[in-house]
Amino acid sequence: MNFDTAASFPDYRPRRLRQTPLLRSLVSETQLDADRLVLPLFVRSGRKLRRPIHAMPGVYQLSPDELVREAGKAHEAGVPAVLLFGIPEQKDTKASGAYAANGIVQQAVRLLKKELPKLLVITDVCLCEYMSHGHCGLVQRSKSGARILNDPTLKLLARTAASQAEAGADVVAPSDMMDGRVHAIRQELDRQGFDEVPIMSYAAKFASAFYGPFREAAESAPQFGDRRSYQMDAANSNEAIREVALDIQEGADIVMVKPALAYLDVIYRVKTRFGYPTAAYAVSAEYSMVKAAAANGWLDERAAMMESLLAMRRAGADIIITYAAADVAKWLRET
Ligand SMILES: [Zn+2]
Repeated sequence: MNFDTAASFPDYRPRRLRQTPLLRSLVSETQLDADRLVLPLFVRSGRKLRRPIHAMPGVYQLSPDELVREAGKAHEAGVPAVLLFGIPEQKDTKASGAYAANGIVQQAVRLLKKELPKLLVITDVCLCEYMSHGHCGLVQRSKSGARILNDPTLKLLARTAASQAEAGADVVAPSDMMDGRVHAIRQELDRQGFDEVPIMSYAAKFASAFYGPFREAAESAPQFGDRRSYQMDAANSNEAIREVALDIQEGADIVMVKPALAYLDVIYRVKTRFGYPTAAYAVSAEYSMVKAAAANGWLDERAAMMESLLAMRRAGADIIITYAAADVAKWLRET
């Protein structure tokens, strides 16, 4: 952009174009629209089950029948896509539930595709919810502590993604942050004939305090240690660029930055650098903070939520994953 040609005051008065709502919307540079929203949902087995998540008012663990209802309501409001997380009945040290043909997510995908065929169903590909220890990969314990094993984990992730595609998932979304997993998943999908199923990779996923409420939702808190040996250090954005480049080389179709609001600079750099479809995940605490402040009467929930999601669009995100998706879609219709 060349600012040398801009007139200066008093010939140029920026306020001229702010005088009326019509003028303001005529020159608006960024739009938030419902077509770009993805609603994350948590599914667990049962019937008529809506288990509230304490730190995320309005968000529930849902049994498959309730999941269909919740997804249906969001879809009707204008949300085109959901992102599924599963809570299995049993956990083990191989994450068997993640790739079981009749695992909770696989069941939920089949049901959603049958009941709501026009809804785009994205599945989270990770092992932590299914591991008894809560880590995203296989763990090797020794006297000196525990290690998260990278390469042996890849096979399980690829198997998980393929079983979700088999169930009918439209997009698979690996969130584990193991090295080389996009390549492993792409190969396995292709080998099984799912070459048209896109991968949305959590390419730059940071180890973040803002995931706190999610762990209650997905029951995936690590039983020991933390995730800093695989998720990224909040200090690093050059490394984020390398991570994204790697995922693109390995075959990612959409790249994601997570969390969103505290990492807008990363979103901006990723979009500017690669021009790839870019997703921003407005994580659980981003939602909870607004909800909590609004519940106390400290801010206007609707305005604050819309402004923060618009900021992600402005930074370069094409796709916004948010727990507020259904509300936002409704609010957008009202305006
Ligand atoms: Zn995980």
